[in-house]
Amino acid sequence: MILYNGQFVEREEVSIDIEDRGYQFGDGVYEVIRVYQGQCFAMKEHLDRLERSSKEIKLDCPISRMKLEDNINQLIKKDRLTNGIVYLQITRGAAKRTHQFPEHAKSVLTAYTSEMERPLANLQNGINTKLVDDFRWLRCDIKSLNLLGNVLAKQEAQENQCYEAILHRQGTVTEGSSSNVFIVKNGKLYTHPANNFILNGITRQYVLRFAKEEHFEVIENTFSTEELLKADEVFITSTTSEISPVVKIDDQIIGEGRPGIVTAALQKKFEEEINKLVSHVS
Ligand code: PMP
Repeated sequence: MILYNGQFVEREEVSIDIEDRGYQFGDGVYEVIRVYQGQCFAMKEHLDRLERSSKEIKLDCPISRMKLEDNINQLIKKDRLTNGIVYLQITRGAAKRTHQFPEHAKSVLTAYTSEMERPLANLQNGINTKLVDDFRWLRCDIKSLNLLGNVLAKQEAQENQCYEAILHRQGTVTEGSSSNVFIVKNGKLYTHPANNFILNGITRQYVLRFAKEEHFEVIENTFSTEELLKADEVFITSTTSEISPVVKIDDQIIGEGRPGIVTAALQKKFEEEINKLVSHVS
């Protein structure tokens, strides 16, 4: 089923206007929420971020927060989703094509679920990555539908047999094409500060909390591609990739070419968090 402005509609019956501004301008925002055993992980944090992104682009959500939460849970039940994601987007709606905001468009919220297993092989063995130039706009903190810069970076990584692109602006590492990046050096964690150059990932925020709980020092500061390549450990975080160790960047093997101990400790905390969520079921 598709959630369309508060209604549940069969996919074949949804009609999106050719002049929907999401379609023509990428004028909208989105979220991807992870579902484990039919339960939403970090729903509150995702909806908080959706509200923030909407506000930043002056977009109204067509339904209330309470109704949206309820609709998402209903959608998961109707689709009988166990492991997967909920994709959710709000566009500025349909109107005659002009760049400026139209006067009478009504925003459109759509959501659907998709099955997805956990990336267990990547979590265990790590991933290969490629350094790619970050030429995106300067509001990467907004989870906007405009993802062309991210799409091109991911494609470049994939064409080089890599799972993820690690982006940098003139040698300063920002984030992944669809993830955040952490490095570990001498037992300390480093990650780009949550400013306009990166999306403040929900998984990133969980990792910051786990690190505190485990008494790892975290420095939210920029680091260079050189520091990245010389790190003891590198990992990426995202809703779908969770905490994935990076074992190779371009031709450089990271650490010992397998997931490091700090990464493993954080992965364990994440596992506990999932267990807490799913243990409420049944
Ligand atoms: N940065 C970018 C550019 C992303 O697309 C994502 C994935 N949404 C992230 C970071 C990670 O965010 P999260 O942990 O909330 O999935």
